[in-house]
Amino acid sequence: MWNTIKPAVLAGVLLCLCRTALLAAERIEALEPHMGTMFRIVLYDDDPSQAHIAIRAAFDRVAELDGELSDYKPDSELNRVAVAAVGHDVPISNDLYTVLAASQSLADRTNGAFDVTLGPVIRLWRTARRTGVLPGGDEIAAASLRSGYRKLHVRNDGAPEIRLDIPGMQLDLGAIAKGYAADEGLRVLREHGFPQALVAASGDIAFGDAPPGQVGWDTGVDSINAPNESFTQVLQLHNAAISTSGDTEQFAEIDGVRYSHIVNPETGKGLTTRVGVTVVAARGIISDGLSTAASVIAEQHGPEAALELIRQSAARGIVVIQTDGKWLRYESPI
Ligand code: ADP
Ligand code: MG
Repeated sequence: MWNTIKPAVLAGVLLCLCRTALLAAERIEALEPHMGTMFRIVLYDDDPSQAHIAIRAAFDRVAELDGELSDYKPDSELNRVAVAAVGHDVPISNDLYTVLAASQSLADRTNGAFDVTLGPVIRLWRTARRTGVLPGGDEIAAASLRSGYRKLHVRNDGAPEIRLDIPGMQLDLGAIAKGYAADEGLRVLREHGFPQALVAASGDIAFGDAPPGQVGWDTGVDSINAPNESFTQVLQLHNAAISTSGDTEQFAEIDGVRYSHIVNPETGKGLTTRVGVTVVAARGIISDGLSTAASVIAEQHGPEAALELIRQSAARGIVVIQTDGKWLRYESPI
């Protein structure tokens, strides 16, 4: 499987600012924990005092989004409206609308392989990862009844609103929120006068303009199934985003079967197909959602169908999948 390079300095570092002189501009890097992962900002500028203000504003924007989009925080907007919107329309923020509208569009295009209403099923598998005990078939069936993207209605007739068809539904934006947060962090940096920047949220990275004197940001695509090999591919990206989904970090291994944290709505189970997807798209909200969606499609319909979804979304991607014990790699034409 494939993964983007993740910063080796994640563990234990709460906030680190370091500078490297490069040409006239300085490279500034900052780390801060948000959305259950470490966010990283890198930017170039010849006026570092202003850079700190921009970085603060970008991280604050990510924190604001976490307060709206988190399914972990009981008082997040997402969790509040999931209760309040049962049976009638409830106003929502523009951010929540943007992410839910993109999610529903992806759900439509994948016949529900991507589905942010899978919250009840996803929570069962989260518990399974912790306890090592498989959820029962009846539990999965009951949770699946409280899921289904057609039970979520997102509208914007002047003011954004949502409605849910039945009580007990839970929304989970874990597959798309980090990509949107990276986009928004980058937008804030640009507004503060720092277009040569990147915002990384673990496996989701949004790139602004290229660093000074370079054609793009060097981004390694790593072979997860052969972790000791050197990076097989380095992309130079600017004004684009890259996301990776896979089961290397979050999975449950129970009775010899490995279940990914990505759920296949057709089975109600974590993916048991070993698959990793890397997507490059115009924005993080697209690459993040697509990498998760394509992982599910790869299990349901095979790797070619996963690539076709990526192609149809004006993105490009790499799908690595284990078939009969062997890893196969599929790549969409650039
Ligand atoms: P990561 O969170 O590791 O970056 P992803 O972007 O692929 O990886 O998102 C995985 C998360 O997406 C899961 O932890 C869960 O919250 C959510 N999720 C799982 N299955 C689905 C699905 N079929 N559709 C939408 N979201 C999903
Ligand atoms: Mg994703």
